[in-house]
Amino acid sequence: MAKIALVAHDAKKDLIVEWATRNKTALSQHYIYATGTTGGRLHVDAGLEVDRLLSGPLGGDAQLGAMIAEERLDALIFFIDPLSALPHDVDVKSLLRLAILYNTPLAINRSTADAVLFNMTEGEK
Ligand code: PGA
Repeated sequence: MAKIALVAHDAKKDLIVEWATRNKTALSQHYIYATGTTGGRLHVDAGLEVDRLLSGPLGGDAQLGAMIAEERLDALIFFIDPLSALPHDVDVKSLLRLAILYNTPLAINRSTADAVLFNMTEGEK
């Protein structure tokens, strides 16, 4: 069982719900963390069991960064909105920087999310 974090910016929340619904069987084999609002949507709309952290702008991104630095997270799936300015842009940058630094598998759109989830799921067999 891998520890996987799911995060989506507001404009990408419908997309992550659709992606998680399609990949529910594979996701159910792992321990899922999510930032607050994303986690709520994943639980209610996709029926996933999710360990919810704080909302991203209120520290959820920072919590995930700390988990990466402490090597308590195996993969990060982060659907970033490339078209909006975000008040917590520094937190987003910090999270991405730590994922790069610690060589954490990182997905930032649907095709890379498919690849990371496949790798986490098949790699464990
Ligand atoms: P949220 O946080 O899931 O609480 O909306 C995501 C983010 O914007 O980092």
